[in-house]
Amino acid sequence: MLREPLLLLSRSGQVKRLVETMPVSAGIVHSYVPGETTETAVAATGDLVSDGLHVTLDHLGEDVEDLAQAEAGVAAYLDLLEGLAAAGLARKAEVSVKLSAIGQALPPVGGRSGEEIALDNARAICRAARNAGTTVTLDMEDHTTTDSTLGILRELRKDFPETGAVLQAYLHRTEADCRALAYEGSRVRLCKGAYQEPESVAYQSRLDVDRSFVRCLKVLLGGQGYPMIATHDPRMIEIAASLVSRYGRAQGSYEFQMLFGCRPEEQRRLVESGETVRVYIPYGREWYGYLMRRLAERPQNLTFFLRSLISKK
Ligand SMILES: Cc1cc2nc3c(=O)[nH]c(=O)nc-3n(C[C@H](O)[C@H](O)[C@H](O)COP(=O)(O)OP(=O)(O)OC[C@H]3O[C@@H](n4cnc5c(N)ncnc54)[C@H](O)[C@@H]3O)c2cc1C
Repeated sequence: MLREPLLLLSRSGQVKRLVETMPVSAGIVHSYVPGETTETAVAATGDLVSDGLHVTLDHLGEDVEDLAQAEAGVAAYLDLLEGLAAAGLARKAEVSVKLSAIGQALPPVGGRSGEEIALDNARAICRAARNAGTTVTLDMEDHTTTDSTLGILRELRKDFPETGAVLQAYLHRTEADCRALAYEGSRVRLCKGAYQEPESVAYQSRLDVDRSFVRCLKVLLGGQGYPMIATHDPRMIEIAASLVSRYGRAQGSYEFQMLFGCRPEEQRRLVESGETVRVYIPYGREWYGYLMRRLAERPQNLTFFLRSLISKK
């Protein structure tokens, strides 16, 4: 019931300004976002890697409004990749990039469209990732960007076939997208989807989204690619485990993914049973939209959030 208003608030500039006065160290923010700097992100990565986990890092900063902000986003990734390589973590830690954070939605600048700017910027990040010895996954945002993001993915994969894609089970189109992307070497993260989407493009009930998630899992696990199963849902994890044995998938030919701060005991349980588990770490100053999407998923955390907001001094 609270999901819709919270997702609407995730796009509200006024509330954003109020909430951003909270320090990242405030309890609820800190439980989802370990910090704002490259150093804190690399340190959090080191902790998880020493516990046997893999990591993907997201420099927060969606919906940039000008070229300078997009370039600052790229610079943050280059700095992060250098930091990961210097700390000897690049083999276990990759990066997740939102194309809107590197220019996808910008109006044309200097004869280049927003999409072209994002593609050039993504290429620079992929090159730096490869030099560091790791990979990039393109996060998926709301449905108005799906075609553009998959188009940019296709271009990037010509030079960087290791680039990962994300597909969202709540979209009607996703089973077909899974079929198109289930080829050898294709890294595909399957998640349920985190945005507020209309009925015309997305399943609305939990049951329908879960059913679609399972259909997509079957396509990906039965295919030739490398599925990345991104969910905290115990039922989906159990179903994935039984599909893995049905399709004769060896451990290491797919992975589980969860968000930083979500079900850490389950992350460790899976690692102990021999699974590859990757934790998604968001970091940076622009944590507002990310935090609101997480609260929309777990409204029981809202009380903590309001308490942190009231006692922000
Ligand atoms: C690694 C990763 C990357 C993602 N990337 C994207 C992306 O690029 N684009 C996008 O749109 N979305 C992305 N998402 C978010 C995703 O789409 C969902 O919004 C989010 O994961 C919530 O869905 P769920 O499958 O975890 O379970 P839900 O349907 O939210 O919850 C189902 C059940 O799981 C359990 N559960 C869920 N969360 C928790 C928790 N924190 N603690 C304890 N139990 C819990 C509860 O029992 C709950 O009833 C990503 C998610 C992950 C894990």
